[in-house]
Amino acid sequence: MTINILFAGHVSRWPDYREPLETALRAAGLEFDLRPEFADPAQVDYIIVAPNGPISDFSPYRRARAVLSLWAGVEGLIDNPTLNQPLTRMVDAGLTEGMVEWVTGHVLRHHLGMDAQICATEPRWHPVAPPLARDRPIGVLGLGALGCAVAQSLSRLNFPVNGWSRRDKSIAGIATRHGDTGLRETLAQSQILVLLLPLTPQTENLMNAERLSLLPRGAILVNPARGQIIDDEALLAALDRGDLAHATLDVFRQEPLPPSHPFWSHPQVTVTPHIASETRPRSASEAIAENIRRCEDGKPLLHLADPNAGY
Ligand code: NAP
Repeated sequence: MTINILFAGHVSRWPDYREPLETALRAAGLEFDLRPEFADPAQVDYIIVAPNGPISDFSPYRRARAVLSLWAGVEGLIDNPTLNQPLTRMVDAGLTEGMVEWVTGHVLRHHLGMDAQICATEPRWHPVAPPLARDRPIGVLGLGALGCAVAQSLSRLNFPVNGWSRRDKSIAGIATRHGDTGLRETLAQSQILVLLLPLTPQTENLMNAERLSLLPRGAILVNPARGQIIDDEALLAALDRGDLAHATLDVFRQEPLPPSHPFWSHPQVTVTPHIASETRPRSASEAIAENIRRCEDGKPLLHLADPNAGY
């Protein structure tokens, strides 16, 4: 029987997703009708959705068996009171690959002191070799699809990696911790700290003045997760005191970051415009098709968001 699949990502992305989705759904052996709108919402079997897409009220989609997010971060969906269907997060090999590359690039920039070497504005010969990666402990907060891949990749470059997650977990080559004591221990050892947590009520403002003060003096913060995880004022104060050496920020409480925000002009802040990584239509379509196939076969959905945990 034909299954009706609604594409409810941002309207501008339909041309990018149409062909990859059709190809992946066909390869999964599904008979489908995929469209950016259906006249009758009650006829829709699956909804492919993004928080910036057209749906804010899921209640008319009474028949929908699952809502499949195009985004890894589901904070704009999971607390929608009209969403009663199972919600899946995007775990996409292309998205993960992009995040590993972005974080590795920024970590190596800071580790190797590239700014001092390359961006010198006056002739000066100051030959200080950077330490080896083995002598630069890194912390990764959040060890999910993205954090785990980032931690393992940095570990392969010889960085000692400390990771922190909500639940106890074991990852080869990574010193893993959880809980409040685990967080304090992780922060105390992180010369470079990478945030890859979801935004939830528990992680909002996690990096406040007290937790920032637990980082070693001169530490560097890299945030490609969500802006709300950091207390902006506390971060600026820590940078101004010299407690932190630099912050590389890809995400912000308000996006685009307002022109008047002090991050733009702060010499120790690097701003990037929420480009750390993005869902790639081809590999993401395969992930979506696989999940729809599983649901049709009566198997559990992969990467189900947990409304109690908030991600
Ligand atoms: P994920 O697979 O859901 O992993 C989340 C990780 O955070 C898990 O390890 C989880 O612990 C941990 N966590 C959640 N709540 C916690 C808490 N209260 N205390 C400690 N650890 C906690 O998510 P993901 O796919 O890796 O994505 C992470 C985030 O990256 C997304 O939510 C999104 O906000 C952001 N993102 C940004 C971009 C960008 O371009 N800037 C692109 C994609 C994603 P458990 O392992 O115990 O569950």
